[in-house]
Amino acid sequence: MGKLKIVVTGGAGYIGSHVVKLIGENLKDKAEIVVIDNLSTGHREAVLYGSLVEGDIRDRDLLRKVFSDFDPDVIMHFSALLVVPESVEKPVEYWDNNVGGMIALLSETLPIIKRKKVSFIFSSTAAVYGNPEKLPISEDHPKRPENPYGDTKLACEKLLSSLSYAEKNFNFVSLRYFNAAGADPDGLLGQSTPNPTHLILRAVKVAKGEIPFLEIYGTDYPTPDGTCIRDYIHVQDLAWAHILALQYLLDGGESDFFNVGYGKGYSVLEVLKVVDEVVGFEIPKKKANRRPGDPSALVADPTKIKTKLGFSPKYDDLYFIVKTAWNWELNKRY
Ligand code: UDP
Repeated sequence: MGKLKIVVTGGAGYIGSHVVKLIGENLKDKAEIVVIDNLSTGHREAVLYGSLVEGDIRDRDLLRKVFSDFDPDVIMHFSALLVVPESVEKPVEYWDNNVGGMIALLSETLPIIKRKKVSFIFSSTAAVYGNPEKLPISEDHPKRPENPYGDTKLACEKLLSSLSYAEKNFNFVSLRYFNAAGADPDGLLGQSTPNPTHLILRAVKVAKGEIPFLEIYGTDYPTPDGTCIRDYIHVQDLAWAHILALQYLLDGGESDFFNVGYGKGYSVLEVLKVVDEVVGFEIPKKKANRRPGDPSALVADPTKIKTKLGFSPKYDDLYFIVKTAWNWELNKRY
């Protein structure tokens, strides 16, 4: 059998690049990778394996050319816009990028699935659930996104469901990420996003002196210490979930949706305490107003991914998550 051909859209970005590294390390002799990335937020240096095609997935001519040259068996689709407040300000841009991008990608996949099987792995989000009715959140929780970002991801999920129903050669796994954080334990990859909004990344940037102080968005939430609770997952464990999803689909698994989180929640204050421990001093912080659209608590029920995909996290340790984020911040390559 020839090598498995894997297209990774957004493979130069934070999560995609970690997945490309895992494929390169674990399936080197079995798989070939082509990354498509417009480098709007990704980095050329983050692509450690395979080849990089620089371009936008909404460019149908480009996709057609890549697909006819490479003829993928697997598509891992990471490329998307993902900043919630920005999605509120620029809904058209978000629908164009995320849903328009998905339509272009699937349109160019159609001719392939007329001939052979294609396995599709999609980067989804806990934002599809909206404000949780109960915790932890399982996959059958109602889907009522609270912002355009979540709307676009839910729309993509619906399109995937419809296509897998219509086409027997098309199967997908949609992974609903909770809060990805941390960096490659080998120190080769990390999160280098311009103007980051994420808590752990901002906190280590405060520690480094790049941001003057950390704002705590809201201290009057209905949680034990008044700050929001999230399920932080190390990016390497999150990346590994994609390898498991790939194996599942290649073994003939049916299209499905999985939460990816640890099932444990930490408040903003608990995270910041760990940040202080890791960096060795108290970073400057200030109480601030609530950030619009933040649910008070989001925690995954990871039972399904554990039982159906055999997900067994290696880095379920907030100290390690923050430590790798801090190491990257001090020694980043890009
Ligand atoms: N947060 C904060 N200060 C910051 C960034 C984030 O207090 O500088 C809070 C935010 O309000 C949320 C939690 O940290 O309750 C996680 O936010 P993040 O943006 O990392 O992830 P989200 O859950 O919004 O995807």
